[in-house]
Amino acid sequence: MIKKNDRITLKIEDMGVNGEGIGKLDGMAFFVKDAVIGDTVEAKVMKMKKSYGYARLMTVLKPSAVRCEPGCAHARQCGGCQLQALDYEAQLEFKAKKIQNDLIRIGGFADMPKPEVMGMEEPWRYRNKAQFPIGTDRTGQVVAGFYAARSHTIIPCTECRLGVEENRTVLEKLMAHMKTYRIPAYDEETGKGLVRHVLIRKGFSTGEIMVCMILNGRRLQGTEELVDSLREIPGMTSIMFNVNRERTNVIMGTELIPVWGKDHITDQIGEITYKISPLSFYQVNPVQTEKLYETALEYADLQGNETVWDLYCGIGTISLFLAKKAGKVYGVEIVPEAIEDAKENARLNGIRNAEFFVGKAEEVLPQKYEEEGIRADVIVVDPPRKGCDEKCLETMVRMRPDRIVYVSCDPATLARDLKYLCRQGYEVKKVKGCDMFPETVHVETVALLSR
Ligand code: SAH
Repeated sequence: MIKKNDRITLKIEDMGVNGEGIGKLDGMAFFVKDAVIGDTVEAKVMKMKKSYGYARLMTVLKPSAVRCEPGCAHARQCGGCQLQALDYEAQLEFKAKKIQNDLIRIGGFADMPKPEVMGMEEPWRYRNKAQFPIGTDRTGQVVAGFYAARSHTIIPCTECRLGVEENRTVLEKLMAHMKTYRIPAYDEETGKGLVRHVLIRKGFSTGEIMVCMILNGRRLQGTEELVDSLREIPGMTSIMFNVNRERTNVIMGTELIPVWGKDHITDQIGEITYKISPLSFYQVNPVQTEKLYETALEYADLQGNETVWDLYCGIGTISLFLAKKAGKVYGVEIVPEAIEDAKENARLNGIRNAEFFVGKAEEVLPQKYEEEGIRADVIVVDPPRKGCDEKCLETMVRMRPDRIVYVSCDPATLARDLKYLCRQGYEVKKVKGCDMFPETVHVETVALLSR
């Protein structure tokens, strides 16, 4: 019997949804974080369940042909990346299989082929947004970094290789300022202290940078001096505070205080310029976003006079991308600030055939359809990880669009929703993956359905 603390040798034959290596011994499956498919490893058993267990990677006895040196020294500790030890081609293969498996197992699409996954040429420094927690270490020093996997312990680190180089400068300047003025970092345990997080965003095509400090309060000592220092960073465009006084894991509060510069930055994807506020959702990987939206546009197959709905539209990114080829586009989004941005983005780009509504897709869509009779030729959805609400899917089916383009950041909920739509008369025509998040297990998928 294998028991806790045993050292075992495993041949890793598969990888789980969270990127763990999976090996079998005595009919038991073991999940080993940081082991990759093809490795032979020595691992220490940490936890035993009835038919499976968890083990910790101790030594790689024989490295897999697809194993590579992680690109970041913090890869094992950090909760952010799960696939750094896997070479990039193998990461794409992992994601293609993940999409295929979910569509077969959860969606019931038995003969689903493995989809193409569009990869990046340079799978590093792709994130235009970073959120660093600020805390205090045991010696009382202010630290910025990332949370260790499945915890809220901050591992000091000002340099994440997924993010832009300016992140580090911003963090160093802020920490130095906090030290000079003895400004305390927020303490999750006690709810005391001031600085909670820093949000940094950069428009890749414009070079514009936004720094938003999330405070447990409304003021920061010596703000002018800090602003002068941050302004030295080329591209600095917007410095803001966000007030969050709640004892919560939610990073941002609702109140924004402009401190210096604009209250937003702009960026460009394809030919469209977007205005982005701190509270609005904006895709984090602009290079891949363009490929994703191009695919959505191709799947939508617009001839010029269609009525298109873009549900979960954020700041109207997809809506505006489609508007030039459509008759009319309606966007729906739950965050009011994002809809403000969407409207402004339409104006900014001279787009007059796009209209935006604030509200839940599952409420706005039925209402507009039933009460106002607005129809749909094509519906695009891009919901958060939990997928579409059933009420939303049901209304989509009743509106009988010719095509549905489903953009998804979680293949499991995508599979569930496609199953529903296919029971109601739709058919999956095309599926393509897009690697928006290299080094992590996450993948974006676009699916085309037609009636
Ligand atoms: N299509 C956009 C945003 C996609 S992210 C883009 O590509 O940039 C998903 C968006 O759905 C977020 O902006 C989120 O605020 C919004 N959202 C979440 N639940 C919603 C709901 N029930 N109804 C409408 N929008 C919702």
